[in-house]
Amino acid sequence: MGAVSFPPPEIRENVPLAPLTTMGIGGPARFFIEAREERAVAGALAFAEERRAPVFVLGGGSNILVADEGFPGLVIRMAIAGVTESADPRSPALARWTAGAGEGWDGLVRRAVECGLAGIECLSGIPGTVGGTPIQNVGAYGQQVAGVITAVRVWDREARRAVELDHAGCRFSYRQSVFNTTARDRYVVLSVSYSLTRGGAPALEYADLRKFFPGCDHAPGLAEVRAAVLAIRARKGMVIEPGDPDCRSAGSFFKNPVVAGSDCEAMAQAAGGPVPSYPVAGDASRVKVPAAWLIEQAGFRKGYGRGPAAISGKHALALVNRGGASAADVIALMREIQAGVRDRFGVDLLPEPQFIGFRENPSADSADSTD
Ligand code: NAP
Repeated sequence: MGAVSFPPPEIRENVPLAPLTTMGIGGPARFFIEAREERAVAGALAFAEERRAPVFVLGGGSNILVADEGFPGLVIRMAIAGVTESADPRSPALARWTAGAGEGWDGLVRRAVECGLAGIECLSGIPGTVGGTPIQNVGAYGQQVAGVITAVRVWDREARRAVELDHAGCRFSYRQSVFNTTARDRYVVLSVSYSLTRGGAPALEYADLRKFFPGCDHAPGLAEVRAAVLAIRARKGMVIEPGDPDCRSAGSFFKNPVVAGSDCEAMAQAAGGPVPSYPVAGDASRVKVPAAWLIEQAGFRKGYGRGPAAISGKHALALVNRGGASAADVIALMREIQAGVRDRFGVDLLPEPQFIGFRENPSADSADSTD
């Protein structure tokens, strides 16, 4: 006999996705599987290939907006768990932790800090799973996962087998990797290996973070830096706290634009004063400009909104679902903000979340001018 008529029993049908996302928005997945082991991932992908169904791999649901119609293909909810430690052949001072892609990211950071392992403490409080971290080379407050990732084990959908990419193979750059650029959709992340430094000092590079320790008579430890990052993020509504409506978001909704120095001067003229900007490592001609500042200067204050979709009351960069918002409401607000910033500063803000199940990608009409 030819094609499979019924999905295998572990694959469910018409599963609501909204409860699996931090925005709490979106319709159902046509097919859905919770994959706890590599074999399940491979089987689910074979099923989707046979049906020619599109595939989406869901982690913590913290950086996506699902269409009101839902997703017409197979959603694989990545649930591969487990953390193992091995020696790092490069130095006894390094510990290599390999974590299943479905492990919660912040739980891993907490455990690393508790074990006195440095390298990811500034990445505290970031929602989502381990598997999502290499994709956009998650970074914050001066650290990025590319600094500690030694290998990523993936399922290669072209070769139909598991392979391991070393650090160079991941081609990391600012918020980018092979996974969200040249090989988008080719690999499913199964586990990630991080090399952490035993007894290492915490990174204290960002002013926001240093401000937390004024006149401190000792160098803060890993746990203190983690606590400081969590406090800074909580102030911005960027730590998920059940019941806080400002947390019903997809984190930062827009990328921080990277612009030419000359464009920054034009922006300063439009603003009638200096524009905050930061250097881009390895690129003296361009600077990073905080998107939140542009949004507020364009007239969109924290809490702005005309309906159930609004700007967070704590951070202008987050769009929140105040209750009952549809994906269409969020897209309308996104477009309004983009148009306002473009009119005022001539800059296109690119959305950061992934759009799932939309017939037309809502970000497709934006110029690719940011990181
Ligand atoms: P923020 O701290 O005000 O940062 C806004 C922009 O200014 C970012 O591009 C940041 O660069 C840059 N910046 C701030 N201080 C800097 C310094 N001392 N040196 C160099 N660059 C500096 O904005 P936020 O939106 O509240 O974000 C907080 C942190 O979380 C930032 O580090 C941000 O990048 C990070 N974040 C990461 C992701 C992600 O990985 N996808 C998503 C949201 C936020 P950097 O981006 O290089 O830090």
